[in-house]
Amino acid sequence: MNYYSLHNHTLKVCFSEAVIQGLAPDRGLYFPEDIKPLPTSFFENIDKLDNTEIAFQTIKQFVGDEIPEQELKNILSDVLSFDFPIVPISDNIASLELFHGPTMAFKDVGARFMARCLGYFNKDNDNNVTVLVATSGDTGGAVAKGFLGVKGVDVVILYPSGKVSDIQERQLTTLGQNITALQVDGVFDDCQDMVKTAFLDTEITNHRQLTSANSINIARWLPQLFYFVFAYKQLKNNHKDLVFSVPSGNFGNICAGIVAHKLGLPVKHFIASTNSNDTVVRYLETSNYDPKPSKATISNAMDVGNPSNFVRIQKLFNDSFQELKNDFSAYSFDDDQTREGMKEIYNKTQYIADPHGAIGYLGLKKHQLSDDEYGVFLETAHPVKFLDTVKDTLDTTIEIPPQIEKVMNKEKKSIAIKGYKELKEFLLQ
Ligand SMILES: *Cc1c(COP(=O)(O)O)cnc(C)c1O
Repeated sequence: MNYYSLHNHTLKVCFSEAVIQGLAPDRGLYFPEDIKPLPTSFFENIDKLDNTEIAFQTIKQFVGDEIPEQELKNILSDVLSFDFPIVPISDNIASLELFHGPTMAFKDVGARFMARCLGYFNKDNDNNVTVLVATSGDTGGAVAKGFLGVKGVDVVILYPSGKVSDIQERQLTTLGQNITALQVDGVFDDCQDMVKTAFLDTEITNHRQLTSANSINIARWLPQLFYFVFAYKQLKNNHKDLVFSVPSGNFGNICAGIVAHKLGLPVKHFIASTNSNDTVVRYLETSNYDPKPSKATISNAMDVGNPSNFVRIQKLFNDSFQELKNDFSAYSFDDDQTREGMKEIYNKTQYIADPHGAIGYLGLKKHQLSDDEYGVFLETAHPVKFLDTVKDTLDTTIEIPPQIEKVMNKEKKSIAIKGYKELKEFLLQ
């Protein structure tokens, strides 16, 4: 499979090059040259397949022959070594829990897959690759954990100072080894812009091979399509039309869901549920794409003002506003509504949703499911990652899981930077 830059369709690279480069040299996102639907028999017989086999069948055309079949299966079975359960919340709504991995947010799958692909491509290479990544909260921890100790890879994580939760900060600042955390005086978009600028700065790229582990990187982005297929496998026998509501920030996760749909996955409708960072919601109302600086909210992993993956979504709908609007809606909810959503779920069912999952739930409510529809919201992080908000909102507490306990007493280590100049100095060292 080749990938082309969304800025220039003639600029093509293979899977490994796209993974190693992250972003195309012209700053465009890479996009698969063509997406071949899987045979309908694959979806009809999906109950007979295990998660590794499902993942292998759905990802293989994107990897091509660059990783041998058995090696790719080994990577996938290692990456997917935890559960992705559907938990019913009401008659027609369920939570798809994506937080059973090592850092308890959905980004573990993409980060681990990318780390193992890069490890594979780098095994006979003596030059280190530097993974430079911006985080709004959960990417940092997932990438740090996924890449910890991977040979030939240094990881540099930028996060907005004071704008990630305590547990999120611990997960990305306490590991040491090949992981360095830089706390930036600014918001997430500042971090993301600095990363994109560094990619184009030849003084830096002559000195180090840089790549990105944000969802702009295809190896971080594409494996997220598995979630939607795993959900389908669990819900296939209830014979209702599936509607997914995806708490969205950079729109990588929902975009991967749309790729799954292109592969033939039966999905009736996609809902992007956002916090007050509502650029896409406004776009669907006005057809005018007008990004605004990101605002801090209690669902901080979605504090993105200018979602990178939205251009991929437009491409998946053939750049047609009408096609997009047929299959895709977007709704935004502020912090008060988010807290009300958490309370509603908890009071009705005793289920503790994190602020991101609660926004997903609210999206389904707003959509007003018909009798033929079944709604699934993606529960993208374990509520313990937002302990203070959960305690304040629900007047309950949560037991700290062992994965989180481990980082609670470790010392946070990070380097404070103000702007691009300092990032550059750091990378040129
Ligand atoms: C990253 C993240 C999101 C947003 O995902 P995108 O792919 O950036 O849209 C939502 N919820 C949580 C908990 C996250 O960590």
